[in-house]
Amino acid sequence: MGKIHELGDALSNKIAAGEVVERPASVVKELVENAVDAGSTVIDILVKEAGLEEIRIIDNGSGIEHEDVLTAFKRHATSKIHNEDDLFRVRTLGFRGEALPSIASVSKVKLQTCSESETEGTEVVLEGGKVISFERARARKGTDLSVQELFYNTPARLKYMKTLHTELGHITDAVSRLALCNPHISFRLVHNERKVLQTSGNGDPVQVLASIYGVGIAKNMVKFQASSLDFEVTGYMAKPENTRASRHYMTIIVNGRFIRNHAIQKAILDGFHTFLPIGRYPICLLDIKMDPLLADVNVHPSKLEVRFSKERDLMDQVTAAIRSQWRKETLIPSAVSAFEKREQKAVQTTIDLELPSENAKSTVGQDSFSTHIEGDSKGSTGSVNLTGQRKEELDNGLINELVSQPAFVKEEESSLEKTAEEVARWKDEMEEKVPASSIEVRSPRIPPLYYVGQAHGTYIIAQNDEGLYLIDQHAAQERLKYEFYRVKVQEVANDVQDLLIPLTLEYAPDDFIKIKENQNKLEAAGVFLEEFGMNSFIIRSHPTWFPKGEEKETIEEMIEQLLNMNKISIEKIREEAAILMSCKGSIKANRYLRQEEIETLLHDLRYASDPFTCPHGRPIIIKFTTYELEKMFKRVM
Ligand code: ADP
Ligand code: MG
Repeated sequence: MGKIHELGDALSNKIAAGEVVERPASVVKELVENAVDAGSTVIDILVKEAGLEEIRIIDNGSGIEHEDVLTAFKRHATSKIHNEDDLFRVRTLGFRGEALPSIASVSKVKLQTCSESETEGTEVVLEGGKVISFERARARKGTDLSVQELFYNTPARLKYMKTLHTELGHITDAVSRLALCNPHISFRLVHNERKVLQTSGNGDPVQVLASIYGVGIAKNMVKFQASSLDFEVTGYMAKPENTRASRHYMTIIVNGRFIRNHAIQKAILDGFHTFLPIGRYPICLLDIKMDPLLADVNVHPSKLEVRFSKERDLMDQVTAAIRSQWRKETLIPSAVSAFEKREQKAVQTTIDLELPSENAKSTVGQDSFSTHIEGDSKGSTGSVNLTGQRKEELDNGLINELVSQPAFVKEEESSLEKTAEEVARWKDEMEEKVPASSIEVRSPRIPPLYYVGQAHGTYIIAQNDEGLYLIDQHAAQERLKYEFYRVKVQEVANDVQDLLIPLTLEYAPDDFIKIKENQNKLEAAGVFLEEFGMNSFIIRSHPTWFPKGEEKETIEEMIEQLLNMNKISIEKIREEAAILMSCKGSIKANRYLRQEEIETLLHDLRYASDPFTCPHGRPIIIKFTTYELEKMFKRVM
């Protein structure tokens, strides 16, 4: 007898569930996507115990016709594609027909649904994928699907669940992303009867950003746009003063689908090049529209990964759009609001999941999105409201750290309207200002600044009608030098001068080979190597403009940089060289400058292409507006 046989449906569904249904958040994602595909305008997500007890999604979409209901739970059953052609032009979020059967195979499902054409609805109950009952039911247009006791029949999977905090964090992430993808849909996420997130569904992405990150952040975001024959890119990004320690705050949407893509993330980061301190990442939303033929979404079961056929073009367009927008913005952070943000952050850790009281709203929103509200729950008290046996299962070491949420602050109905009002108000204010397009790129990037003095040999104090400015003299000079060297490294060949004493350098054999392979690239940045015996090079000359008195260090460090690079290109070598050289000989802190020196520096800074951050992303200039000063001294209330 043969040894190979086909697996039954029940088993293959469970196997598929392993991929599609990793954790409660994946169930939420799949079911909400179905509701979106069904054309819903309002979607309620009601979750108990981070989804392990119940996940219930109520939508007002198309509903499912009685005769289709059982089919929907079959493997590879879908209404969304018909043939191979459709597969390459997917316009819906789902198309693999895997979610319902997979979810049903590892939980207890109750579905009530009614389509527009029907006068009577349908109710079906399944347990572990088996139909328990199937009957006609009440008729409310749309679908109400409840998933209970997720993973009740797959204890191994249950074991992998993290704390409820973590799982709820993932759910919040998933819903936040879907909300960002669908600003025209009103989402409401409720956990254990407390509202976690709500969006208005009025179609304005800024409103959604405000609901998730708080009005403070959304208000400080800048819109950018770029279209080409292939791609339509629209985005919102927080100014570099508002950064995050994780990449999760970069949301990328392609044709309405949230995706993960390293190349586009890199393109965004390139757009922020020299604007972000090391280890900090931007908060941004990137919405890309393209012909579905250019994007293959059928790469991964969770459909998070997408392959682009014109990836390079898309990356360049994204980077250019961000760069050119920054060239239009004045990015001087207010010292006062920067301070306030710090304060909020301190509060943030203590409020944790308490949601969403009036002023805590913004900070909590920030934290719950993408930071996964990581398990730090030791201080929490209280018990989980799980029912009898289920609780035992979970307690039996399956989930070690069950915690309940701290009491949420009861919602106030008006919070959403308040957010909307506030967003509308500052949008008006923005429009009253000079339209960005009328600002010329080569004109000064900052208003004239007048010398007041210098503090601690480190900060320049300056003023104008708008307020009082503090400038980090070292950072400012680094930026100016960087801009100088960035131009210089492009044109090395012109003027070269000899070193007084030639420099010989010896390397380990593997390093020697790596350097030799890239010799011509180094040359393009001004390092002229000649082989000189075993594993050694000699350098006799350098471009005249190399940092005076530090030529040798510069050459050595440029070679070090090359040895540390994974992907080596002339552009990269030049760029890193410019940053390296900018650090050489810049006025250090604790050096008193003469008034003329300061005035020259202020003038040069005004005309720099990017006068706001040093090449390492640290701020150069902060200000106290006149109004802020008056407020601090209680001249105005
Ligand atoms: P897919 O979304 O890939 O088609 P699913 O297993 O998620 O596969 O769903 C199967 C089918 O069930 C869908 O194609 C759709 O026709 C129907 N369906 C699922 N959820 C809903 C819903 N909330 N509203 C209307 N139809 C739904
Ligand atoms: Mg689906």
